[in-house]
Amino acid sequence: MADCLFCRIIAGEIPSRKVFEDDHIFAFEDIQPGAPTHILLVPKRHLPGLAEAEAGDGSILGNLQLRAAAIARERGLNTGYRTVLNVGPDAGQSVFHLHLHLLGGRHLAWPPG
Ligand code: AMP
Ligand code: ZN
Repeated sequence: MADCLFCRIIAGEIPSRKVFEDDHIFAFEDIQPGAPTHILLVPKRHLPGLAEAEAGDGSILGNLQLRAAAIARERGLNTGYRTVLNVGPDAGQSVFHLHLHLLGGRHLAWPPG
């Protein structure tokens, strides 16, 4: 999608600090980190958000979580981390290309704000 920020990042049209890439997933550092580790993992195929996901999207959703766990292991986040999907306006979703946040490196309060 030409007007989607994260599609443009995946295409390399907008610079990002890439963490990981394979055929289906692109991961990069969040530009406004909320924790010492704050990485966004996105499917390369445009999908607006979890609310729009369908049964056929199950493997990409699972693989995003598994990749987040692998990155957390690589980063030594041994005392914990959080993966988050913000969905829709009440949750503060601001970019409508599905992205899994990986947050870690500090204590994370619960419940979130
Ligand atoms: P959300 O509020 O869940 O939609 O998350 C969107 C995230 O994208 C926020 O944490 C932003 O800081 C991050 N973000 C926005 N623009 C960029 C960018 N150009 N590069 C990296 N992260 C970005
Ligand atoms: Zn997109």
